[in-house]
Formats: sequence, C-alpha cells, structure tokens
Amino acid sequence: MTTVASDPTEIFIPGGHGTAFPVSKGQFLEIVDVEGQQVADVVAFAALDRREWLSTTHTRSATLRLGLEVGDLLESNWRRPMFKLVHDDVGSHDVITSMCDDRRYRLDYGVEGHRSCRTNLAEAYSPWGITEWEIPDPFNIFQNAPIHPDRSFGNEIPPGTAGDSVVFEVLMDSIVGISSCPQDLNPCNGFNPSPILARVLNHYDA
Ligand SMILES: [Zn+2]
Repeated sequence: MTTVASDPTEIFIPGGHGTAFPVSKGQFLEIVDVEGQQVADVVAFAALDRREWLSTTHTRSATLRLGLEVGDLLESNWRRPMFKLVHDDVGSHDVITSMCDDRRYRLDYGVEGHRSCRTNLAEAYSPWGITEWEIPDPFNIFQNAPIHPDRSFGNEIPPGTAGDSVVFEVLMDSIVGISSCPQDLNPCNGFNPSPILARVLNHYDA
C-alpha cells in the first residue's frame, strides 16, 4: 500500500459493517469516530504468519492496565509489539470484553440474523483465508466499559464525539480488521451504530 501524507488511504466503514486491509511497518493507522458514540472492534494478524495475532491478553499482561494510554505497545500472542498508541482524543477503550456475534444476539436478545462484529470480520478476512474461529478477541476502541471499585465493569454510552480519533504507529506488517460494531440493543454504540473511518498514513506528527 503506497500513500503520502497529503493523500492518505481512507477506508469508510458504514455503521454496522466491517473491513480488513494491510498496513506496513512504519505507517500510521488512524481510526475516526465519524459521528460520535461508536465503537470500533479492532483485530490484526501478522502479515507474514497468521499464527501471530494482536492479543488483548498479552497486552494487558505487558501494560498491567485494563485500558489503553498513549505510549502503550499493543502486543501479539508471541509477545512482540505490533502497534503503538500515539494519539488519543477519547481515552475510553475496552480491552476486556468479547466482540458481538450471532450467538450474542440470539441467546441474549432473542434476535435472529442480526449483523455482528464476528461475522463482519469473518467476511472481511475471507480473502486471506482466515476463518471465523481464528479471529481473536478485539481491542474495542472508543468503548466505554468503566471498571467499578468492586472490579465489575459496565457497558455505557461511549464518550467519543464526532471526529474524535486514535492513531497507532504500525510496528509490524499486519492485516488489520475493523468492525463498526452493529450493537443497537444496549448502550455500547449509543443505541445507534454509525460509521468509522480508517486512514492509513505514511507520516504522522503527534
Ligand atoms: Zn460488535
């Protein structure tokens, strides 16, 4: 993928849909909450070996925190840094909960055939031969899952407003998957799934 700073690759993800695309070491990945209050479920696989993937578990073990802060390194299941958070307008992200899937809507809400992050990402990764069961737990960018004093956590309307973004420095050639979460039955996306914009930049001045 070849881009220049003045002409970035932009990938518009309609609310409730998903996509996957390659990024290269040295590039920057910006994820924009276009209208506000929208979660982006983000996963990634190493481009050279699909057995290596972006891991919330290993990242938590490295940062010893249940959120993300600027400067954090996001690690793979092989404990290698894949991304570095270099900019954050929101400061509210979830690295605990699973992505939504068709079972979630069927079992918890009695709804059949609802779009889900897992089916979005399975469809998006199909050109790379990556199947549903291989998709790891997500980094739920912009999600508001506050940690309570008793160590329970909530699921509340995200604080992000229109145009807020995060930027990651890409530290490993990867295939990134992003789902603009279709959840409209709880506060996760303000009850109104809306678009996410991804930009792949060759340069970024923090
Ligand atoms: Zn979802």
